[in-house]
Amino acid sequence: MRLVLVGPPGSGKGTQAEKLCERLGLTYVGTGNILREAIKQNTPVGKIARPLLDQGLLVPDTVVNDLVAELFRTARPERFVMDGYPRTYAQAIAFDALLSQQFLKLDAVINLTIADDEVVRRIGSRRCCSNKDCGVCYNLAFRPPKTENVCDRCGSPLSLRDDDKEETIRRRLVEFHRITDALIEHYRRAGLLVDVSAVPPMETVYKNIERALPQQ
Ligand SMILES: [Zn+2]
Repeated sequence: MRLVLVGPPGSGKGTQAEKLCERLGLTYVGTGNILREAIKQNTPVGKIARPLLDQGLLVPDTVVNDLVAELFRTARPERFVMDGYPRTYAQAIAFDALLSQQFLKLDAVINLTIADDEVVRRIGSRRCCSNKDCGVCYNLAFRPPKTENVCDRCGSPLSLRDDDKEETIRRRLVEFHRITDALIEHYRRAGLLVDVSAVPPMETVYKNIERALPQQ
């Protein structure tokens, strides 16, 4: 099985990727991981990416494409889940070319769907421990602390992080749609897109993904 997972922040994409790897024995391919690994191994692309990261710069599309290409030419995962790549339409075109060079075909692109308001509600319900050495996060909707506004682990007060504020989430969602809508359209045209609602509990979402996968 060869899959790409797409979904906005707060859709539980990372959790679903983890479950797919565990239960279907797929290799997890996340750009964050392979970037860190390439830098550690000092690969040709790692050497290009390191100074960019050191300066806090965004790694450009072409470098990310090269990084994924390097991985597929060396480790060559046969069965995988892509998490966070391709992120843009241009990356999808590069990935299509890479896969066809490697004689590999995607089976499906799972599009985790969730309304923006629901994402705002979900992320906005996060409360994190204000003690920097602890940092445990709770969710008032799914995983509330035992005592209101107090960390179960260390007893410090909980707070809403700037990243989780509505204004920040809305800005990230606008950016997500601006970049991702063309990517989703591309895979829909290719007949690979499978829409799965990210709204039910995680385990139900997982079952719905499994059910929607093409039979092998
Ligand atoms: Zn704490």
